[in-house]
Amino acid sequence: MPSRRLLLSFAHPDDESFGMGPTIARYVAEGVEVYLICATNGDVGTVAPELLNGYSSVAELRLAELECAANILGFKQVFKLGYKDSGMMHSETSQDPACLWQQPRAAVARRVVEVIRQVRPQVVVTFNRYGGYGHPDHIAIQRATVDAFHQAGDPNVVTDGLPPYRPQKLYYTSFPTLILRLLLPIVRLRGDDPRRLGKNKDIDAVAILENVEPAHAQVDVSAYLELADRASACHASQLGGGLPRLPLPIRKRIAGHQRFTRVYPAPAYNKVDERDLFAGVDLD
Ligand SMILES: [Zn+2]
Repeated sequence: MPSRRLLLSFAHPDDESFGMGPTIARYVAEGVEVYLICATNGDVGTVAPELLNGYSSVAELRLAELECAANILGFKQVFKLGYKDSGMMHSETSQDPACLWQQPRAAVARRVVEVIRQVRPQVVVTFNRYGGYGHPDHIAIQRATVDAFHQAGDPNVVTDGLPPYRPQKLYYTSFPTLILRLLLPIVRLRGDDPRRLGKNKDIDAVAILENVEPAHAQVDVSAYLELADRASACHASQLGGGLPRLPLPIRKRIAGHQRFTRVYPAPAYNKVDERDLFAGVDLD
């Protein structure tokens, strides 16, 4: 049977589990080869010193956490591009010439083209144009991935020993905004600026909501929430003592589906008309 291959292109160790972990678990269980690009080492992630136990750097710890999650989720292969984490927009770290945000877009796209030609995925998934919540690394890998999606099939874009390959579908993940929508009136009532939320005042709730895009695919993942929880638990340094969780039966009802925006082929209508990211795909 021809293989179904799915490539996810994200920025940090943890984006895979916290974002679409349940969908990954489902596709792996169904025999799809799932590949991951993790563009940075996550080295700006805040880590409590006691959690660094034994690791010489934050990057080393976070890549070990990624390996733990990758083993649970069952990726066929993880491509670590090794860029430095940029931290949030306008931070000092985002000015570092080695960070992902400072790389030429074409150079990052080139790396993604190489992965696409190696993996030959029919379906590619990345963040939306705002990187979900405006993180510069999310935006950088999103732009590079969209460029690479279109360049990978172009014979004029030459990569050593890797022939052109044209993936068939491109999706954005949808950022969960329900809680944000519920909180926004409270934020305004309290007189806080919704464009400057969070510990570092660098989360712009208005921009997050303005950048939400319609969903076209809705994947039933209710049977895979627990497995994805186990993968998320690998990223202990990012959890601050654990994720607040509703009881599983309730989560299966309210978070039993994950939604995706189809970017290519462009949808004729903005409505959910797919239950499977591989709907309509020609298998080679
Ligand atoms: Zn991230």
